[in-house]
Formats: sequence, C-alpha cells, structure tokens
Amino acid sequence: MDMPVRKRPTNPAGLEPYARPQPWGMVGDMVIADALDGDEQLWAPVAPGIWSRPLHLNVSAGYYVHLLRVKRSGILQRHRHSGSVHAWVIRGSWYYLEHDWIANEGSYVFEPPGETHTLVVPDDCQDMITLFTVHGSLMYVDPQGASTGYDDVFSRIERYRAHFEAVGLGADYVKRFMR
Ligand code: FE
Repeated sequence: MDMPVRKRPTNPAGLEPYARPQPWGMVGDMVIADALDGDEQLWAPVAPGIWSRPLHLNVSAGYYVHLLRVKRSGILQRHRHSGSVHAWVIRGSWYYLEHDWIANEGSYVFEPPGETHTLVVPDDCQDMITLFTVHGSLMYVDPQGASTGYDDVFSRIERYRAHFEAVGLGADYVKRFMR
C-alpha cells in the first residue's frame, strides 16, 4: 500500500489561509507521497523489461501522467503523438532516432503534437525512469507510419485495472489515480 502522506506542521506563525469556499464542482486534489520508491506492486508491466506506474489518469481532459521504468536497452517502440508530451528524466537516459540529442537524468523534454519518433534506451543504461505527461494518444507505427496500435488514457486505465486485479489490489484501485 502507499505510504501515508506526511502531515505538515500546524500553523505556529499564524499565517492566514484562504478563507472562502472552494468552487462547486472542483475535483479533489491528489498527493502521492512515495511516487518513485513506493510499493513495487503499483508498477504495471507493459512489455518485457518495461513498467509503468500511474500517477494521474485524467479522463475529462484526455491525458495521463505516469512513471515509465525500463530495465533493458534498445528500441522500445515507435509512435506518433496526437497531443503534446512533457518528460522529466529521473534516472538513466534515452533518445529518439529522429533527433541528435540525448535526454539524461535531470533533463526536461517537450514533444510536439504530430511528431513521430522511435524511443531508444542506450546500451549503458540498465535502469531508466522518466515522468511522462502524455496528452491525447500515442499511435504505434512502423517506419512508414502505418499504425500498429495505440495508447491513450483509456487504454492505460484498462491495463492498470488488469494489473491491479492480478496483484490482488482489485481493479478499482485505479480510481484513486483518476480525475
Ligand atoms: Fe514520444
């Protein structure tokens, strides 16, 4: 299970909080205290040597935030984006065959809507973790752009549901990450 969220200190300085009600209809906030090193059960296998841990699955705006963990090198997949992607490399490194740069630990990457690229983990990296915020869908394609499959927040939710069910947490465990 998740580690409990730490409580902040009470307000010894008497700092003044916002006094008015929050807007009607607002969805709940979310804090994941141990997003990186918490329960291994929360990492869903997505392919050999590749896992994904959901952080935020947004079904009303059509995006998802997850940690991608990879423990193998080489081509992971080739995909086209319908929406934008923001990435933050937490561990290891990766690059796209279509660009000359490499994203290393601490790098931020913006991927523009419409781009097609081929994700590669270099041979000297055995443990890669990156935080991805993915808007819209990834369409998996061959080198000529022909579609071979896709992922979006809904396909991800199905995968996490199946995984959480399989490890005994129950499929509905995914709801705590949904907004
Ligand atoms: Fe991408």
